[in-house]
Amino acid sequence: MNIKELDKQFVLPTYARADVEFVSGANATLTDSNGKKYIDFTSGIGVANAGHANKRVNDAICKQISNLTHMSNLYYIAPQARAAQKIVQASGYDMMCFFGNSGAEANEGAIKIARKFGERDGEVKRYKIITLQHSFHGRTITTVKATGQESMHNYFGPFPDGFVYANTMADVEAALDDHTCAVMIELVQGEGGVQPQDKEEVQALAALLKSKNILLIVDEVQTGVYRTGKFLASNVYEIEPDVITLAKGLGGGVPIGVVMTRLKDVFSAGDHGSTFGGNYLSTTAACEVVDVLREYYESGDLEKTTLLFDQSLESFYNAHKNIFTAKVGIGMMCGLRVKDAETLGNVISNARKEGVMVLKAGRNTLRFLPPLTITKEEIDEGFKSLTRAVAGL
Ligand SMILES: *Cc1c(COP(=O)(O)O)cnc(C)c1O
Repeated sequence: MNIKELDKQFVLPTYARADVEFVSGANATLTDSNGKKYIDFTSGIGVANAGHANKRVNDAICKQISNLTHMSNLYYIAPQARAAQKIVQASGYDMMCFFGNSGAEANEGAIKIARKFGERDGEVKRYKIITLQHSFHGRTITTVKATGQESMHNYFGPFPDGFVYANTMADVEAALDDHTCAVMIELVQGEGGVQPQDKEEVQALAALLKSKNILLIVDEVQTGVYRTGKFLASNVYEIEPDVITLAKGLGGGVPIGVVMTRLKDVFSAGDHGSTFGGNYLSTTAACEVVDVLREYYESGDLEKTTLLFDQSLESFYNAHKNIFTAKVGIGMMCGLRVKDAETLGNVISNARKEGVMVLKAGRNTLRFLPPLTITKEEIDEGFKSLTRAVAGL
């Protein structure tokens, strides 16, 4: 049986897969099972921030797993402690980390921190968490409920109580009450359609929440790990959240999630845990990814690449205003609004045929999350393919 048939017979059909199977990658270039090459403007949805098959990351992983891949969190794990230090230092915040295995799990940890904080702190038990419409926080029962998209709440109930959705940032204040323990936001909504929040509004919200002793949780699962120009979008927005979650770009493709918080004593032994979380494999990968990208950022190369990508995107946008209605995003998290959903679908499938991978976000946004280490040649090649892809539309 070929792979397509095997998949159809044995893997539950939760994904509408495109008809392509990649077999190798090198930085922002992918090769499929027919030997065809593609430029990757997706990083596997914001994961391969340091490029596919990054040699330093792979060497570090191979060296570690030839010694030890996993033991358990009952004992000290050197790369976990080092990864926590590197993450905290790169963030610039005075925080501590807990390691899980995915974005949803990181957000579950954030929600548990907020709920425990709300239980202990104050006269009444505070448990409500405000999130935004069009947000995306994950696929577990709790994080799917935290996600402000009614279409995702059709089945699977009853859900945990206490999630309240605000339409926009301006509506958050009105949604707060005596039972609110936290507000959870993405600074740039990713799945919701590459929607950056307004910096002043975010700063005003952060100040308001501080004055009311309500936690600010920033879901940086997609925006984190230099995706938006600095280690965290919270650094770009110049705020000091109480809780931050990371995942996608942190492990170079090895599953990992982190919840970090300034509330260092909120959890005691037994309050939270994970079998795989923070093991030798994933935290060794994270250590090297953070080192590689921190050097890349500090050398000024990230800014140069971001500028190059942005200039190419800008000229592509200007040349195709018959299809695209706006250019959005921050850093290497970018999008073009497409005039209608049908055209968006055609752009994405034509792009694949022409050898460039791009993503959809929300209903009408073409999303770009290239590896941060993408070269000028790869950028040029990708936009040439994309130009061919929209030629007939
Ligand atoms: C992808 C994503 C998640 C979920 O991460 P998983 O690793 O798929 O569980 C949560 N929040 C945001 C903002 C994301 O982009």
